[in-house]
Amino acid sequence: MEKVGVLGGTFDPPHIGHLILAQEAILRLKLKEVNFIPAAYPPHKGCSPIASPSQRLKMVDLATSEDPRFKTLDIELRRPGPSYTVETIQELRKAWGPVKEIFFLMGSDSLRELSTWREPELLVKICQVVVAIRPGQSPQGRFAQEVIPLEMPLIGVSSTQIRERVRKGEPISYLVPKAVEAYIRREGLYG
Ligand code: ATP
Repeated sequence: MEKVGVLGGTFDPPHIGHLILAQEAILRLKLKEVNFIPAAYPPHKGCSPIASPSQRLKMVDLATSEDPRFKTLDIELRRPGPSYTVETIQELRKAWGPVKEIFFLMGSDSLRELSTWREPELLVKICQVVVAIRPGQSPQGRFAQEVIPLEMPLIGVSSTQIRERVRKGEPISYLVPKAVEAYIRREGLYG
């Protein structure tokens, strides 16, 4: 069976935290690839994305184009309404069939919120949820026992922080891929 990673997110914008998570998952769990899936409208986030769906898709495309093992899927953007991960995984299982085993990757902040997601019990059954944790730590929360811990050097970069830095005129180089930074500048995003 082929092991395939899925990384869902708002990607407003994608940053090195996402790329390092994907790389570590490929390395440690021997995945064939990681599919980045930008959410149309993330139901569990307080505020809506700043960049449009097509801008976020473009940025994810640019961020993933550097590594042939990184792919971008627009399935959540093509589906009307909010993006529920459980529905995405069901759609992928149908499309990919039993030959692919799905590993859904997330940061530990997302694991803490997992009980507020749609049908979390079903989600942890139909895929392997993988959670990035600091070396020596263990996953926390209601689903801690049902997830695979992925030890990695956690870096404290977030999309929120990058948007803030752009707004304040601070540099974002090294925090996002060069092509993503160029796109943000060209489109005048987050200013
Ligand atoms: P925001 O700051 O807008 O909340 P974010 O940086 O968390 O955004 P998302 O697109 O929401 O980015 O994240 C997608 C997934 O990547 C989530 O599961 C999140 O936990 C994980 N993630 C985000 N940043 C990191 C990081 N620095 N290290 C590991 N995982 C991360």
